[in-house]
Amino acid sequence: MNTNELNVLKFGGTSVKDAETINKVHQIVSNYTGKQAIVVSAHAGVTNMLVDICNSRKEEISPLLSDLFQKHTSIAKELGILELVNEFITNELSEIDVITNYLPLSPQLKDVVMSKGEILSSTIIYTYFKNKGLKVSYVDAREVMKTNSRFTNAELEFDKSCEIIFERFTSEYLSNDVTVMGGFIASDEEGRPTTLGRGGSDYSAAVVASALGAEELQIWTDVNGILTSDPRVIDGVKKIRKLSYSEASELSFFGAKVLHPSTIHPAVKKGIPVRVKNTFNPTDDGTLVLSERSNIKMIKAIAFRKDVVTITLCSNRMLGAYGFMSKVFQIFENLKIPVDIVTTSEVSISVTVDKSEYNSLVEKELSVLGEVVISDDNAIIAAIGEGIKQTAGIANRLFGALKGINISMVSVGASEVNLSIVVKDVDMQRAITLLHEEFFSGELNPEFFE
Ligand code: ADP
Ligand code: ASP
Ligand code: MG
Repeated sequence: MNTNELNVLKFGGTSVKDAETINKVHQIVSNYTGKQAIVVSAHAGVTNMLVDICNSRKEEISPLLSDLFQKHTSIAKELGILELVNEFITNELSEIDVITNYLPLSPQLKDVVMSKGEILSSTIIYTYFKNKGLKVSYVDAREVMKTNSRFTNAELEFDKSCEIIFERFTSEYLSNDVTVMGGFIASDEEGRPTTLGRGGSDYSAAVVASALGAEELQIWTDVNGILTSDPRVIDGVKKIRKLSYSEASELSFFGAKVLHPSTIHPAVKKGIPVRVKNTFNPTDDGTLVLSERSNIKMIKAIAFRKDVVTITLCSNRMLGAYGFMSKVFQIFENLKIPVDIVTTSEVSISVTVDKSEYNSLVEKELSVLGEVVISDDNAIIAAIGEGIKQTAGIANRLFGALKGINISMVSVGASEVNLSIVVKDVDMQRAITLLHEEFFSGELNPEFFE
């Protein structure tokens, strides 16, 4: 790497879990020679603890806050910087204590609470780096990431944020090599803290990479890269050496937690390569996500999502009618329910929605148009790979492998890179195992798999 290069490195919660892992992060950062923007998540578990606080009663808050205090001060103590950050930690957490007098919290106050995880972790990591002698500066994400006021899941004002990020980081780089910023958090026009949705630090990092025209966006996590399936669910997964942007975004959209679904877009826009790497095995090349699509057609990964509701509407009025679909989708739009998979026949339409987005009013409203059947114990399984649409035999192999498992919906062809099916939750594990065996147990192309 030449010294003019600038990389953006994002370290997720597991990479900054405790003093030991933060030390590994420090080693990785110190080994680089170019300029670096470091985007960090909250220490693993902290965001969930903050969610618990938001959902508790006032009398339950005190032990939760002590746990948070204990967690942050013990990390700082082990890093040898407790004296430098003790007051900061105390002040940030006492703000939570005050806010919890107003439980149940409004979305606006929830975001004040939720933002504390990254505010604390980024400050602790910055202070540690500085204490270790790195030439490092700090950027408060709330000053550079600008969003609308949709608290808890705010939408970034992309161009405005990029402009501010560019100005701030460029001026910091005049004097320092490394700049640390917390992911996930931002602020609205009035300066009130907002958050970008769970897993949002990946997106923060991608926005910074795009604003700064980085050479590479690196997502550092706890696995060697993007794998053929979730290692927590399937044995024998393989690392994918490289995949296209479209494959990676479909993969993340269909549940692979390793990348946040919107991560890819800001990087795609600028053609910035994204590399997923392992903090605990930094010499491994990881997985490279590239804008070029490969000509070699094959299944690269099996992703899945549980807790899927299917909604089927049957109506003779669909026969030869126009405008019917529009009425159906208008109902989903009015209720603000995002639809994932859609399949239709002459007289019926089936859609899937995420359980967390489901609203039971949809049944009543759709029943004006026809007979409605709702089933809420489903999973989506997606086989992902360039060229699925044009490759003869892939669907055959897939359905052949799933003999004996009932498939209630199939979607193929809408995307070049994805064939999705819907099965019952209870069949999911077996279905993924069978598919993984079918596509990844034999000899694999070493250009793409390790
Ligand atoms: P971080 O804390 O670094 O943001 P996440 O927990 O969000 O990490 O994402 C990493 C996890 O994603 C891995 O530990 C792994 O269990 C899970 N995962 C799910 N699907 C995949 C996949 N296809 N490839 C790699 N990891 C996956
Ligand atoms: N800390 C946030 C979360 O746990 C954001 C992130 O880590 O990406 O969702
Ligand atoms: Mg993550």
